[in-house]
Amino acid sequence: MNIHEFQAKHLFAQFNVPVPRGKEIKTPLAAEKWAAALNTPVFVVKAQIHAGGRGKAGGVKITKDRAQVPVLAKEILGKTLVTHQTGPKGRKVRRLLIEEGAGIAKELYLSLLVDRETGWPVFIASTEGGMEIEEVAAHTPEKIIKEPIDPAVGFQGYNGRNVAFALGLNTIEPAVINPFVQMLGNLYRLFMEKNAALLEINPLVITTDKKLIALDGKVSFDDNGLFRHEDVQAMRDLHEEEPLEIEASKNNLNYVKLDGNIGCMVNGAGLAMATMDVIKLAGSEPANFLDVGGGATKETVAAGFRILLKDRNVKGVFINIFGGIVRCERIAHGVIEAAKEVNIKIPVVVRLQGTNAEEGRTLLKESGLKVDVATDLWEAAQKIVAVTGKKRAKAANA
Ligand code: GDP
Ligand code: MN
Repeated sequence: MNIHEFQAKHLFAQFNVPVPRGKEIKTPLAAEKWAAALNTPVFVVKAQIHAGGRGKAGGVKITKDRAQVPVLAKEILGKTLVTHQTGPKGRKVRRLLIEEGAGIAKELYLSLLVDRETGWPVFIASTEGGMEIEEVAAHTPEKIIKEPIDPAVGFQGYNGRNVAFALGLNTIEPAVINPFVQMLGNLYRLFMEKNAALLEINPLVITTDKKLIALDGKVSFDDNGLFRHEDVQAMRDLHEEEPLEIEASKNNLNYVKLDGNIGCMVNGAGLAMATMDVIKLAGSEPANFLDVGGGATKETVAAGFRILLKDRNVKGVFINIFGGIVRCERIAHGVIEAAKEVNIKIPVVVRLQGTNAEEGRTLLKESGLKVDVATDLWEAAQKIVAVTGKKRAKAANA
């Protein structure tokens, strides 16, 4: 789960990580009132959407003129921002963060995430703050500093000093070394206590008066830890999430919307990945990742169908089930029930294998539904691609 910058900054403040004075604002009138209360030489008006790259897209405005604050607020509120992280549709701005401006001497990059290889939290830092870190990593990988933290020992002062000296803070601004080490310790505490998956501050700035301050903030949480944190759950903003993904999460389905036209319903995340691969190999693109789970029932299959069919891009459905715990004839019943309920007008290919596969296939064939039943994965993928049309050239090295 992701949260807004203003929420991330509230959390930072709770953990003694310095942030600019600021407030979440929803109307130009509130912006005018807050600007008067803020009383600062420089105001920053920032669009709050769950995506970065707002600066370049016109979502971050700086002004010295207090009277301009409500004008800028009016201009940005309601606007649809398109950044490299929003996709072409963009995101509508419903909230702003209005805060005091900082005099920037140096912009740094800092994040904390879980290293998939070691399973340890790792700090990532760079002197190239304010830029896209992916670009820095691609072109100047030597400018990326990594400091893994052994979770059994926890964050130690030397971890912070390692990062500080690798960044060259001793030459850039020695006065910020101690606050920097403390900041890393505080961020580590936040990360562990709140079950975060990612903390990112880009830019982390050294101000002209030698202070360290988080000018931007991004926090993502591990969904599996959310039940422990009511305060975090309360920060969820459904406007920022795919409507179909919200519906899927209500039904305990793991669903991720993608851009292709073949809707996939699969049990098991690994098989779902393999199914997407095989669709691509057969020359098309999956419209989604959907794992109905090991314990799929008639109801979950029906809910999965409803979600797939609501996506207008979906021109055909590929159901790929390996019956283990879930028996194939139950899935077949689910498909038949769901088909009655949702009026399917597009081609459906079902591949059933495993426990009671034969029974499931027979049920489907005798149901009178227009579904194509297959046993072999590759054959099934080719069938669904044949009826929905190829979307992409077969990869040369496939
Ligand atoms: P992003 O583009 O979505 O990552 O939004 P950021 O919060 O990172 O803001 C974009 C850029 O605006 C930053 O990299 C800064 O260069 C600039 N910026 C943001 N806040 C301030 C501020 O208080 N003072 C100054 N001078 N620049 C700022
Ligand atoms: Mn940023």
